[in-house]
Formats: sequence, structure tokens, C-alpha cells
Amino acid sequence: VLSNRLAMVASYLPQGAFFADIGSDHAYLPCFVCLKDEQARAIAGEVNEGPFQSAVNEVEKNDLEDRISVRKGDGLDVLHEGEVDHIIVAGMGGTLISSILENGKEKLGAVKRIIVQPNVDAESCRRWFDQNGFMLTDEHILEESGHIYEVLVADADGQESPYEPDNKEKQLYFGPFLTSAKTQPFIEKWKEELTKKQRVLSQIEKAKQPDPSKVEEFKKKIHWIEEVLG
Ligand code: SAM
Repeated sequence: VLSNRLAMVASYLPQGAFFADIGSDHAYLPCFVCLKDEQARAIAGEVNEGPFQSAVNEVEKNDLEDRISVRKGDGLDVLHEGEVDHIIVAGMGGTLISSILENGKEKLGAVKRIIVQPNVDAESCRRWFDQNGFMLTDEHILEESGHIYEVLVADADGQESPYEPDNKEKQLYFGPFLTSAKTQPFIEKWKEELTKKQRVLSQIEKAKQPDPSKVEEFKKKIHWIEEVLG
């Protein structure tokens, strides 16, 4: 069985999608989708030999070689231009995800939807989408085995910006959809983040010459988090 985290990511694919799962590791996600949906096809990309072999084995074990192509390479290098209509990048830091998208920009012409699941720094993905013509159209946050995960969905043909001009910086930080929904995992996540930030701030302030801009930045974020938690 697939983790709830990856099942949530997969739920944002339409029936019959042709998609790439970049950093696929065991290719659990493409196998799950293709076993459920016989029209679906996928490319599983992996940069590291070990996970690449695991993906090859998993695809063979499920007899899905005709519909899942496992390819070794960095980020979107494994794709031909216009090959897939959906892209998934899950289980990495948001900064790495953004750089994978940035480095493979020229492969995104035909891509309708990008689904990402950043473990940290979701803000960096929201900013990348916002600056590169992909409109954030949905977000989800869930708790599984003591971890909290965010899933972000961005569409090339998205119409209405989810950001309010006066509130954009905060919405990029917390996520506009996640802030409106304010579910329990969201509250948990930001309570934890608040504790972390307060701890780091008190460390910084103990230094002989604390960097004033760093202190300001932490205070600002702490204030934002307190505000969002209400
Ligand atoms: N996507 C799976 C998931 O969410 O469960 C696996 C996540 S795993 C923590 C991250 C995987 O991404 C690793 O297997 C790693 O080898 C791969 N990876 C990291 N950087 C990559 C890159 N630039 N291109 C392709 N794969 C990459």
C-alpha cells in the first residue's frame, strides 16, 4: 500500500495522465497510479544508481515496463520536450524542487500541471510557480507517522491568482489555501515552527554581536506565525 502522502500527491493527477515522477526512488507512485488506471503512463526519473535500480525492479515486478519508462538522469534532463503533461516532484526540500524546475524550464512547454510535495521550504516552490507562469490552484497538508507534509498543485492554465496583493508575502510563506483552511495539521506545523524559531532567536540574541537583520527577520516570522495561529 502507498503512503497517504504519496496517495494525496497522486490524487491530483487526472485519469489517463502521462506524467513524470522526478526523484521516483522505488517508483511506488507511478506503479500505484498505473495499476489503478490502465490509461496512465509514466516516466520515473532518478539521478542515483541505487534508487534507479529499485525503480527498475519495482516496475518489472509489477509488469509495467510497457507503461513506465525508468530513466537515469538529473531532474528534467530525462524528459524530451513536450513528452509529458504532468510532473510530480515529491519528498525533497522545496529549494531542490525549485532548482529542478528552474534547470529544466525548457521542458515545461506542454506541461499542464506540476504537483510538488516539499518536505521543507514550500515557500520556495510557491515563489517559483508564481514567477514562472504556473498558478497555484490547490494545496493540502496532512500528518502521517508523526510528520507533516504539504502538497502543492500548480496549473499552466490557472485563471485566478490565489494571492491578495496586500498579503502576498505572508501567503507565499504559509500557503494561501492552507491558511484559509487552517486544518489541524497546519496548526500543528506552525506551532512546532514557532517553538523552533523562538529557540533559534534566543540563541542568536545570546551571541556577543547578534546580526540585527537576522534578529529582525526572526522576529518578523515569529510575529507572522503568532498572527496566523491567532
Ligand atoms: N519521490 C519519492 C517520495 O516522495 O517518496 C522519493 C523521495 S526521496 C527522499 C528523494 C529521491 O530523489 C531520491 O531517491 C534521490 O536519489 C532523488 N533525487 C534527488 N535529486 C534528484 C535530481 N536532481 N534528479 C532526480 N532525482 C533526484
